[in-house]
Amino acid sequence: MNATFPLTLPQVLLSHPCEGFRNLRKGEGVLTYAQTRHTLWAMEAPVWFRWLGVAGIELRAGDEVLAIDPFFTRPPFWRMGWGRVEPDHALVAEKIERCHYVLVTHGHFDHVMDVPDVARNTGATVLGSANTCRLLAACGVPERQVREVRAGERVELGGWRVDVLPAEHIKTPGFSPGPLSPRLRPPLRLRDYRMDICFSFLVQAGGVRVLDWRSVRVESAPRAEVLFVGVEDAQERYEALLRAVQPRVVIPIHWDDMFSPLSEPLRPYFTPPRLAWPPLRRVDLARFRRMIEEMAPGVRVMVPEAFRRIRIAD
Ligand SMILES: [Zn+2]
Repeated sequence: MNATFPLTLPQVLLSHPCEGFRNLRKGEGVLTYAQTRHTLWAMEAPVWFRWLGVAGIELRAGDEVLAIDPFFTRPPFWRMGWGRVEPDHALVAEKIERCHYVLVTHGHFDHVMDVPDVARNTGATVLGSANTCRLLAACGVPERQVREVRAGERVELGGWRVDVLPAEHIKTPGFSPGPLSPRLRPPLRLRDYRMDICFSFLVQAGGVRVLDWRSVRVESAPRAEVLFVGVEDAQERYEALLRAVQPRVVIPIHWDDMFSPLSEPLRPYFTPPRLAWPPLRRVDLARFRRMIEEMAPGVRVMVPEAFRRIRIAD
């Protein structure tokens, strides 16, 4: 059954409960998933998403927009070690016009540096760790728009339910967790964006569970229909993650070169260095797709096109 919303009751009752995720129907921007016990919720409010590049995700349910890690400035690589970097204010304003809530997984620049602009432009409430909240305050986001959250919390945000989950960030040389500089003066240096802790988020709305998984530890991953995940050389980890989450669709993100501007075509970045030859390889999305589809037949891998609106329906 490939109907989009609204579904009629007979459509719901006649649908087979075990159907897997349907192919993304090319050109339609509709991602369909099987009829499940959640379908009746899904009838109430379809959920849309846009991948914003890097780790950025925008979800829309009804009239409400929730973004995770929106990031557009994409400074060149050499700015990592030198100087203060002003966010690209015009670009942020262009790319995200409406937003009610922003979730931040951790305090690194590619997750948080454009969030102050999103908050200022849209009035969105931002949720993140203590470091994230301090970075936002240093960048002038009013206190009333910032909310610190901790792992294990469940937060209701309008029609959204968000579970804040503990995450273990991949080890990145030069970006180890720790306290922020006591003197944060914007515009910040890229290394000023220091994380303390990292979160994954399980976001539910309209009967759809969307998991943005940011952790190298996977045992505690909850079930979800839609799984956003990074692309790494870690076959066993993905096997365990798929077993735990049992997603219908896997959407790889954070695979593009975060240092090349959005005015250029997106290209895959390098996977984290490994102890084998060659130590550095570009992310191979075709290989990732094959790996996931071989591990979990029936699970779809959808490589998203940046900024294209996709409807999660059926
Ligand atoms: Zn990070």
